[in-house]
Amino acid sequence: MKINGKTRTCGLMGNPVEHTLSPVIHNHLAERENRNLVYVPFLVEQDRIREAVEGAYALHIHGLNVTVPHKSAVIPYLKEIDKLAENIGAVNTLVKTENGYKGYNTDMPGLLRAMETENYAMRGESVILLGAGGAARAVAMLCMEQGAKEIYLLNRSMEKAMAVAKEVNGIYKENKIIPMALSDHGKLPDKKYLAIQATSVGLYPHVEDVVISEEEFYDKIETAVDLIYNPYETKFMSMVKAHGGRAMNGLKMLLFQGIIAYELWNDVTVSEETAEEILKKMKEELNIHE
Ligand code: NAP
Repeated sequence: MKINGKTRTCGLMGNPVEHTLSPVIHNHLAERENRNLVYVPFLVEQDRIREAVEGAYALHIHGLNVTVPHKSAVIPYLKEIDKLAENIGAVNTLVKTENGYKGYNTDMPGLLRAMETENYAMRGESVILLGAGGAARAVAMLCMEQGAKEIYLLNRSMEKAMAVAKEVNGIYKENKIIPMALSDHGKLPDKKYLAIQATSVGLYPHVEDVVISEEEFYDKIETAVDLIYNPYETKFMSMVKAHGGRAMNGLKMLLFQGIIAYELWNDVTVSEETAEEILKKMKEELNIHE
């Protein structure tokens, strides 16, 4: 990589940022596309978000990703916010405009693009969404946007499931989200579902944990996405597969949220071939050998 007076800088603000894969995505994209752009992680403390955003703008930082725990806290310091990001209440990408940054959420379009590459449908599907945290709330919005038939939202804390269902149903003026306690999964109507695992259960190093351990549950799953990508195959995914379903992990979601951010910053479309190449680099970085 040759850095000179014309190099554009992009980066990630979060806390912590040490284990991020985003530099792998963006620096390889820039290299592959022969673009004079460098991407670096920036550690930003909770009480310095405003200074960080204003400082980045003053330094002409071309684009930023935002990760936990700043995805919502950064919003008041933006000049503009995209409608989907506003509904989700979280941004992960800042694009430089004339008067400040505009915030986007590329996590959900990233998940959708990842699912499309694996021929997973959401439109018209009956969905089981596991979790009611930040990721699950955003997935619930995506299901609504994409016209899922119905969404059973199961969470350990029933209060949180009810709160997310009420909020998202309210935004879309529909009652498609049905909140349930995780322990009530046996009451799910007998049919074939798309299941989206959006809890943190099963994340490394707790690789033997699974959010629902009863085997019967997995007979209802036709396709499944686990948002976790470390381990590469979670216990949840292996149980889905053992019962004849298809399952994918969250690595492609991470890849495509990055690619969509890169496309917004550089006004380009990244080819499927390049996406595959970057995915390979991410797997190398994670030491994944299939
Ligand atoms: P979060 O806001 O902390 O939510 C955590 C969720 O997990 C809550 O619903 C929580 O239930 C549930 N949970 C935690 N421990 C549990 C247990 N022992 N039993 C049952 N449920 C449990 O986290 P988040 O930001 O939504 O992220 C969720 C997952 O998505 C994480 O693993 C994250 O790595 C992954 N993610 C992946 C990507 C990607 O690009 N692939 C992007 C974003 C997130 P309660 O409400 O009952 O506590």
